[in-house]
Amino acid sequence: MTLSVHQFPCLNDNYGLLVRDEASGVVATIDTPDADAIQAELKRLGWNRLDLILNTHWHPDHAGGNAALKAATGCEIVGPAEVLRIAPLDRTVSDGDQVSLGETILTVTATPGHTLGHIVYRSEADAMAFVGDTLFALGCGRLFEGTAAQMWASLQRLAAWPDETRIWCAHEYTAANARFALSLDDRPAMQAHAAAVFAARERGEATVPTTIGVEKAFNPFLRAVDADDFGARRAAKDSFGG
Ligand code: ZN
Ligand code: FE
Repeated sequence: MTLSVHQFPCLNDNYGLLVRDEASGVVATIDTPDADAIQAELKRLGWNRLDLILNTHWHPDHAGGNAALKAATGCEIVGPAEVLRIAPLDRTVSDGDQVSLGETILTVTATPGHTLGHIVYRSEADAMAFVGDTLFALGCGRLFEGTAAQMWASLQRLAAWPDETRIWCAHEYTAANARFALSLDDRPAMQAHAAAVFAARERGEATVPTTIGVEKAFNPFLRAVDADDFGARRAAKDSFGG
């Protein structure tokens, strides 16, 4: 139950995420934004194997590399049924299912909102979760398919996890998200947190992973008071110019 995570930037603003169960050496990729980049990283790390693809949702920057990686490695592909819209899948999973990665158990939570079939994966023992485009550092995914009420309910399930849970999201959107957060929240602590985000990005550093505790303190979507307030904030973010 020790999971190593390797994060690397790919495409425009996605993160590739390779995870390895240290007890068994079993390796998975969270989503498949770029098959060539994922294979290059596996080689560079010396991991030299890919056992599993774990998809969070069907969007091309998350499942677009499934077919090429399966052809190259013979890995098993696990994900929500909606992935079949664009890519191969070997095992369909849904809310409450468990996926074994060597000795690590990942539990699936359904988080409809960004897409209707979106799921996230969490290792409770490692206090880690891979949340795709549901929760971002200081943000959340756009509502392409689901309603504000659905996304609010999904975010509440993540917010119920322990504060120390590390959250790997699929994009580096944090600086833009921080500018929106500041438009709603001028607490000194918020200003300090946003300043740290801007400075990290100036230095070229990743702001992912974050934690549930940090997001509960500063994420304007988790700080909404109810589903209606959440929906209003999400609509405001969609048209936010800053
Ligand atoms: Zn997406
Ligand atoms: Fe995405």
